[in-house]
Amino acid sequence: MLIRLKGARVIDPGKIDGFKDIIISNGVIDAVVEPSEADQMLLDILSKAEEPCGIAEQPFGITDQACTPIEKPCDSSNHKQHDTSTAEPYDMRTDQSKPCGYNKKAFTKEDITEIDLTGMVVVPGLIDLHVHLREPGYEYKETIETGLKAAAKGGFVAVCPMPNSSPVNDNSSITAFMVSRAKELGGSQLYPVGSITRGSKGEALCEYGDMQKAGMVAISDDGRPVENARVMRRAMEYAKGMGLPVISHCEDIDLARDGSMNEGVVATKLGIKGIPNVAESTIVMRDIALAELTGATLHIAHVSCEESVDAIRHGKKRGIRVTAETAPHYFTLTDEAVARYDTNAKMNPPLRSERDRQAIIEGLADGTIDVIATDHAPHSLLEKDIEFDRAAFGIVGLETSLGLSLKLVHDETLSLEQLIEKMSKNPATLLGIDNDLKPGNRADITVIDMDAFWSVNPRTFFSKSKNTPFAGFNLRGEVYMTMIEGKIAYQRQDGGSEIEEIS
Ligand SMILES: [Zn+2]
Ligand SMILES: [Zn+2]
Repeated sequence: MLIRLKGARVIDPGKIDGFKDIIISNGVIDAVVEPSEADQMLLDILSKAEEPCGIAEQPFGITDQACTPIEKPCDSSNHKQHDTSTAEPYDMRTDQSKPCGYNKKAFTKEDITEIDLTGMVVVPGLIDLHVHLREPGYEYKETIETGLKAAAKGGFVAVCPMPNSSPVNDNSSITAFMVSRAKELGGSQLYPVGSITRGSKGEALCEYGDMQKAGMVAISDDGRPVENARVMRRAMEYAKGMGLPVISHCEDIDLARDGSMNEGVVATKLGIKGIPNVAESTIVMRDIALAELTGATLHIAHVSCEESVDAIRHGKKRGIRVTAETAPHYFTLTDEAVARYDTNAKMNPPLRSERDRQAIIEGLADGTIDVIATDHAPHSLLEKDIEFDRAAFGIVGLETSLGLSLKLVHDETLSLEQLIEKMSKNPATLLGIDNDLKPGNRADITVIDMDAFWSVNPRTFFSKSKNTPFAGFNLRGEVYMTMIEGKIAYQRQDGGSEIEEIS
């Protein structure tokens, strides 16, 4: 099976930006070339098909590239997923399911699928570093299946579920279950984040080695901070030795206690107890200091306020291995969104002030914030359709993230390349995945329709939960197609998205 993606502008930041065709065989990229070159390649392939025995002795040019021996064995987590039963590094050269198979047989016209993507933008598949898929334990909110479907619809070829399922992903059997469930389903890839401490209780460290072998890519007690700095230090020391990033949910529990929204004028007016910025920033500062001490790779989750952005900027200047993410709600909304006690505007950390929102945008623009993640946190009406103080923290985000983030591009706050870095390239780098659009790499691709106008309608979400503060938002730009290993995991139905004029 050969696929030719044609007519689109292809962007791989720093490497490709132009109107190219992509040729894919058996799920792997064979060539990214000028359209005329692609024409010639396909003609060559078809002419080989007419040779008497139908077997081409010489591989086609494009196959040469796909089969070029890799100089060093591939050690990316992407490839580790192919065989989690051993610690052996995945080696594409010995994987019979990988390229080269097709040159043994001739292609006819029927074997070639051409997909016309004129007017679209093709980018390396988006990766979401921070989601909650709720399985095992809370399947009424989301399952791995519905979560991965929502991911594909949002343009994500891979997601990293946080460990706060029930039971917590604090051992290799839970990790292995999640990986195998995702494999069974096909579609978007799942890279589990394991917990730092057993049960995320902040005390005993988990067996990171076993969990890493089962497919774990990073550690975090997300949902909670690691309160004890000594425990965090030890975790960082182990993680460093194993090449695992430590993802920190930064929250001083004592400072945040009983708070339900941002501390400030709006909270005072509404009579709701607030969570101050320092509840986040003090732990950001502590963990940056610990990363400096240990040399570990620290990733700060869901940055929401100015003080945290400043601390991360300062840490990077000192050469500390710290990266950071924010989520679309922190650069789109402020605590004013809570004004009518809307529990869909309740999340942790909370929506902050306009000043903080501007600081987040500035941090994205100057590179202090490396990643846009969703912190997709599905909750049912049981947890959300109740009084504000009692409602659960969190919103779904997979199906609105790209549309909301593209506003930064349309506003010229970020270039499209910068956005693709934050939603695809930088997360890949952090996970050790090579997702360049180049021969030999998996065809994990997102196709974006930059100018489609659409309106957010939670009823159309693939996610089981609908808790979003963005219902009715008019957005410009959406996912047209998500391709995973050369297969279409999601494609917008013609006229299927509710296209409305932006107001
Ligand atoms: Zn968190
Ligand atoms: Zn989270």
